[in-house]
Amino acid sequence: MTKKRILTGDRPTGKLHLGHLVGSLQNRVKLQDTYEQFVMVADVQALTDNFDNPQKVRDNVKEVVLDYLAVGIDPQKTTIFIQSLIPEIAELTIYYLNLVTLERVLRNPTVKDEIKQKGYGKNIPAGFAMYPVSQAADITFCKASLVPVGEDQLPMIEQTREIVRRFNTLYGDVLVEPEALVGNIKRLPGTDGQAKMSKSIGNCIYLSDSVDEVNKKVMGMYTDPARVHPTDPGNPEGNPVFIYHDAFNLNKKEVEDFKVRYRTGKIGDIEIKKRLAEVINELLEPMRKRRKEYEDQPDKVDEILRSGNHRAQEVAKEVMAEVRKAMKIDYSL
Ligand code: ATP
Ligand code: MG
Repeated sequence: MTKKRILTGDRPTGKLHLGHLVGSLQNRVKLQDTYEQFVMVADVQALTDNFDNPQKVRDNVKEVVLDYLAVGIDPQKTTIFIQSLIPEIAELTIYYLNLVTLERVLRNPTVKDEIKQKGYGKNIPAGFAMYPVSQAADITFCKASLVPVGEDQLPMIEQTREIVRRFNTLYGDVLVEPEALVGNIKRLPGTDGQAKMSKSIGNCIYLSDSVDEVNKKVMGMYTDPARVHPTDPGNPEGNPVFIYHDAFNLNKKEVEDFKVRYRTGKIGDIEIKKRLAEVINELLEPMRKRRKEYEDQPDKVDEILRSGNHRAQEVAKEVMAEVRKAMKIDYSL
């Protein structure tokens, strides 16, 4: 029996952070045995809003791949590849653009938020506005049925499902309708208290941060702004320090105890933050080690990418042949 497929990926706009870990990476590590998994470094998508800084995208491709290997994505089980090396994805995007309206694309709430965050105003680059369509091509080029992502990506999966249904209705049953799989923590807030930890905002704890960097970032974290003294009653609800404890501290009794003492003004922020920094450093330590091992073997990393790209190209050719046939553009000239 052939395994079902997973497709997911990340934009090489920076190193990966704790948000990626809980949103998607943990699920990838867990599911790589049961699914045939494809993990894509989305350089084409990163260029949609970084076209004026290609060096940044180029440099971060390597960083993202090292992060994958560091968290335990196993290249023997998972196909790691680079988006731009699969031209079929670009080709599919062109065909899918016929199946969506401008109005529909601009209604996407995540795209709307990002347009606001990037301050595009009325000058939205067309490529950026269309990236959800390109993402539909990413997911479907290998007929993936499952997509492990953070909550901000749910509108993209919905859009993909619509495109798949429209394609299959018009041209015949070729594509697979994917489902999203959101991680335990749907959207990890930033260290600054903003709703989402994000590379583009810079409110991140990176998986590759050193012990000192983690300590510094955690000690500077946003907490309950209404609490001035350790004896003031504080609110753990929606407080990023507690959200991180819930996400990463395996000692649930300790976390509950912190919450009770915080609410009643019997513990200082410093004690809670110190413990959080410890917990995060314990979590990251094995990743730092594994990252270093691969950093020291650049040839091995190149080989992993070479064979990953090769495998993705094989699959892309197979699926593209079916798509071309269904769309009556399968010329044998
Ligand atoms: P950028 O700011 O360049 O968009 P990003 O930090 O949002 O970067 P992406 O590469 O866009 O990262 O996201 C990759 C994956 O990680 C997506 O599935 C996304 O939903 C998930 N993800 C990113 N940030 C978080 C977060 N804070 N919490 C949960 N999941 C997240
Ligand atoms: Mg993003």
